[in-house]
Amino acid sequence: MEQLANIQALRAWRGNIAGSLGFVPTMGALHEGHAALINRSTAENEHTIVSVFVNPTQFGPGEDLHKYPRTLEADIALCDRHGVSAVFTPNSALMYPAGFTTWVTVEGLTDKLCGRTRPGHFRGVATVVAKLFNLVQPTRAYFGQKDAQQALVLTRMARDLDMPLAVITCPTVREPDGLAMSSRNRYLDARDRMRALSIYRALQAAETGLAAGEADVPTLKRTMWTELEGNVDRVDYVEIVDAADLGSMETIDRPALVAIAAFVGSTRLIDNIILSP
Ligand code: AMP
Repeated sequence: MEQLANIQALRAWRGNIAGSLGFVPTMGALHEGHAALINRSTAENEHTIVSVFVNPTQFGPGEDLHKYPRTLEADIALCDRHGVSAVFTPNSALMYPAGFTTWVTVEGLTDKLCGRTRPGHFRGVATVVAKLFNLVQPTRAYFGQKDAQQALVLTRMARDLDMPLAVITCPTVREPDGLAMSSRNRYLDARDRMRALSIYRALQAAETGLAAGEADVPTLKRTMWTELEGNVDRVDYVEIVDAADLGSMETIDRPALVAIAAFVGSTRLIDNIILSP
């Protein structure tokens, strides 16, 4: 497996490989959720490249950029074990050289859900992923449903800007008890981890409600709030929106994204499921 720490090395490696290339962009602290994306990529492509870059432009002031878990040695070992061909590990100075002023903004989709309380987040994500796509020139790129809004935004970006690759969204990988795997779960102590499970229970409550015939969105959201209250410390949002464009809906009469963002202690966690009528 190649370790590519700068743009020249990446371009040289890219110029020398033949056949399809799968790409899994990450911020590192890799876990089984990332591994599932890598496995899908290695199954579908002749080569797979993983990037590890904690992208500063997608963090807001006061967010966890500086304490974000960095476990590069273990990340490289995980990639190696999973048959990755190359790992790209640029630093901020390489990705954002002095004088950098070009940004990618995807409108509409980004002013809802996470975009509401994290202004600028998706601008940072879209910009860094556009740059990574230009550098890596993948055949296919893999993202997790765990970050549902991100997957929609990047799918839209690739389509709108005619980027010559397929954007593929992969299912959320969960712990045996249902907690969505996340690099940020490392911040949770045993008690917080128990409390964090209420997020998945709230999503399941919506699923159970719909299965029992309750399709009214305000009613389902109230049920979800009940599950979260007393468990999480602060709810950022509880939303049930159109899964295709994040538009608002009053009843679940088409596929719906049921999504939560909540704080357990100072850790912000997100999770979602898709429900269909
Ligand atoms: P991150 O390192 O958190 O930026 O995530 C890198 C990629 O892995 C993104 O496309 C995430 O959506 C995806 N990912 C993170 N956690 C999971 C999970 N539990 N299941 C599936 N994909 C995930």
